[in-house]
Amino acid sequence: MTQRKVRVRFAPSPTGPLHIGGVRTALYNYLFAKQNNGDLILRIEDTDSQRFVPGAEEYIIEALTWLGIRFDEGPGFGGNYGPYRQSERKDIYKKYVDQLITEGLAYIAFDTPEELDAKRKEIANFQYDASIRLKMRNSLTLPAQEVQQLIAAGEKYVVRIKIEPREDIYVQDVIRGDVVINSSVLDDKVLYKSADGLPTYHLANIVDDHLMEVTHVIRGEEWLPSAPLHVLLYRSLGWLDTMPQFAHLPLLLKPEGNGKLSKRDGDRLGFPVFPLEWKDPKSGEVSSGYRESGYVPEAVVNFLALLGWNPGNDQELMDINELIRLFDLARCSKSGAKFDYEKGKWFNHEYIQQKETSEIASLFMSVLYAEGIQAELSYVEKVVGLIKERVNFVKELWEQGAFFFVAPTEYDEKTVKKRWKADSASQLTELVDILNNCEPFESHHTEEVVKGWIEEKGYHLGNIMNATRLALVGAPKGPHIFDITETIGKKETIERIQKAVERLK
Ligand code: GLU
Repeated sequence: MTQRKVRVRFAPSPTGPLHIGGVRTALYNYLFAKQNNGDLILRIEDTDSQRFVPGAEEYIIEALTWLGIRFDEGPGFGGNYGPYRQSERKDIYKKYVDQLITEGLAYIAFDTPEELDAKRKEIANFQYDASIRLKMRNSLTLPAQEVQQLIAAGEKYVVRIKIEPREDIYVQDVIRGDVVINSSVLDDKVLYKSADGLPTYHLANIVDDHLMEVTHVIRGEEWLPSAPLHVLLYRSLGWLDTMPQFAHLPLLLKPEGNGKLSKRDGDRLGFPVFPLEWKDPKSGEVSSGYRESGYVPEAVVNFLALLGWNPGNDQELMDINELIRLFDLARCSKSGAKFDYEKGKWFNHEYIQQKETSEIASLFMSVLYAEGIQAELSYVEKVVGLIKERVNFVKELWEQGAFFFVAPTEYDEKTVKKRWKADSASQLTELVDILNNCEPFESHHTEEVVKGWIEEKGYHLGNIMNATRLALVGAPKGPHIFDITETIGKKETIERIQKAVERLK
């Protein structure tokens, strides 16, 4: 067999905002496709109209675009295998449903929801399978003529796969090895519903993977239980020789304790579980997103890439190109990956440090604007250069550096008690004189002059520095004192010191 071109797909159902686990699935598909010079397809699995949420598809595309995950094919991306929304492929599926019925591999069932409910009450652990199907109302039990009459009369029906019991079904998984399931535990899943003329997820998924020539199915672990059925469908449809390779990715786990990461964990511990902010169209409830929380996309990508995979050493910082080069499905873990959101912040910190100061300054400009501050870009750049290593997020620059833009109006009480000494007022009054005569007012020079004066007078260096910081910043924080004085300038420095002397003496 000739080697097929690698083709993978990300196949979300537009039932709400894309969860961060779904983003990781999309990312792994992207890395794998790029590494193999393959194609990445976006397929919208919207056959369940009950669960359709308006805006979800747009959200998914916007989120992945923000993260730099580019599709080769899909709605809005072009491609020769379309349409890429399953709701637009309705006519394609029926043929395969009919084929399965004709070959005796599927059958038509008329049981109403009420009849099924009654059975569920009657039989514990009811499952529509070989043990039950001959007691139900379907094309296996009704005469062929009656089946035709019922259909002609418009009676609603579904088509179910006919699963033969007592057969071991093998799912070969790149990550998990051979997974064996006995067919007896499977039920005769619904493949098609006459009510809306649409296939269910299982059939549409398999037909589309086949027609779109998908070579690898990389998806979340929650789909592993469906995989045996999918293998059976490939076999029933005669497509086993081009069946894709499966790779079921490990679950994302809660940061602490056991179980799957949920939106509630995010709400409780204060981190987003969605890439972008999402406003629920029905309830109006707003959920936070990584983008709006100030994460840069490179950091989110790097963070997610390492949730369930590692390069085999302890390297952590990898840009997208390196990830493409190093990614390896076989190195994905079987066991769940703890969602360590503190690590996510660390990645953001690292990527912010890597950015040009000017780029961060422009981002910070809008934070300043929102705070009602107008400042020159060059001044903002200088400030950013001094404090960026202290922050994980651009918005934290304001917490760290507001005093560069507004003089303190209050002085931290604890610090005043501890750091403002009896002689602070008189010493700082002297300091004003020294600073007045200090020229140029550049950091190193000012430091030399001030330290010379302190030494000459025999004053306590630490006391004077602490009191000065309190006067300039209002709190015991901020970068090097003389970088502050240089940045805010002589006039402002002196005014702040005088004001503190006035207020605290
Ligand atoms: N539509 C499924 C989902 O929403 C796709 C699962 C798969 O990739 O086969 O995740």
